[in-house]
Amino acid sequence: MTPTASVNERIQLAVKGVQGSTCDTELAKGPWEFDKGMAEYGPGASSEDHIPLGAPVQAQIPAEYRAASDEVLQERIRAAKATLGDDVVILGHFYQRDEIVQHADYLGDSFQLAVAAKGHPNAKAIVFCGVHFMAETADVLSNDDQAVILPNLAAGCSMADMADSASVEECWKQLTEIYGTEPNAEGKVPVIPVTYMNSSAALKAFCGRNGGIVCTSSNAATVLEWAFERAERVLFFPDQHLGRNTALAMGIALEQMPLWWGRKALGGNDEQQLRDAKVILWNGFCSVHKRFNVGQIEKARQDYPGVRVIVHPECPMDVVQAADEYGSTDYIRRAVEGATEPSVFAIGTEVNMVQRLAAQYPQHTIFCLDPVICPCSTMYRIHPAYLAWVLEELVKGNVVNQIVVDQAVQADAKVALERMLAALPK
Ligand code: SF4
Repeated sequence: MTPTASVNERIQLAVKGVQGSTCDTELAKGPWEFDKGMAEYGPGASSEDHIPLGAPVQAQIPAEYRAASDEVLQERIRAAKATLGDDVVILGHFYQRDEIVQHADYLGDSFQLAVAAKGHPNAKAIVFCGVHFMAETADVLSNDDQAVILPNLAAGCSMADMADSASVEECWKQLTEIYGTEPNAEGKVPVIPVTYMNSSAALKAFCGRNGGIVCTSSNAATVLEWAFERAERVLFFPDQHLGRNTALAMGIALEQMPLWWGRKALGGNDEQQLRDAKVILWNGFCSVHKRFNVGQIEKARQDYPGVRVIVHPECPMDVVQAADEYGSTDYIRRAVEGATEPSVFAIGTEVNMVQRLAAQYPQHTIFCLDPVICPCSTMYRIHPAYLAWVLEELVKGNVVNQIVVDQAVQADAKVALERMLAALPK
């Protein structure tokens, strides 16, 4: 296998028993094999991921796309994109397959891509090759006359789906009953909600309405500081690990970070625990980053003395603490880009991104901490067949798979997003 083989090629080889292993051999199939009623997130998803009721369902795409070879699909995508010209902008998340990323006008993390969408006010369509919450954010930040398209509606995010509006509203009600709403002598309110970018627009809107804010994995510490200037406590959702890792680095004790279980009274805590809390962590997690463990780091250090271990803050606390560094996808990318001497990197984030870095920087040895090939199962639902379909429909004048966020939700979500932008160092 060449170091430039894409994740898809590696999965195909693993399935044939030629080289490597994958967490789910079904990943080798076309996503349309699973777009038949969508009872689950699809191959590679964790058994702990439960798709919420009412999640968007992807209809079967026409047979001509399902049957087309990779070469034909690539050619059709190029041709449709050329015909559409500046009318379309294609955004690709770092975790997308190489076969998609090669067509992206922009490659980045969810927030960088939302900003890129905003920077193209003249494009009639924004094709977001990422997952559902990202397309929603692009719709919030783009102009009303622009259509944001998600090539496969089944591309959700299991972490984002772990916090639904009804459960968060119920949690907020219970917390408000305990804390009240009056500011203390310093003028700080009892609690402020902070949502990770990886959440539905409805939850961003909830934060907008309740004095809260959005954060990303690169600015979570700045956002928490902003929140603690205004509140005694923070309710952080949906990712417990990003919340815990960030708060711990700020010197907050673990005992002051109770976990909130959505379906239990007081989230499974007693009243005193919640009164003593500084950060109440929602019990959400990313199945992809949860796969990393300390044993993998120890093995990397054994195999490659001097290895630089960098992990994403969605990884569990013990993994972040055992690593040399941690940071967002953009931090990881810049760390590799900035290495002047040939180095060995063991990286704890989604395998498509790691594999791409390995191909881009052959002077370094770069590998994913998890030897089993297990891409984000929902990002992987964006297959070239869907991209070809949505683009060719646009050429015909049809907008398919548009993501539309309700206007009232947009307005409140924008408030929380703008607070984040204003909180960042200029
Ligand atoms: S990698 Fe994790 S957080 Fe990111 S889209 Fe996939 S499931 Fe969601």
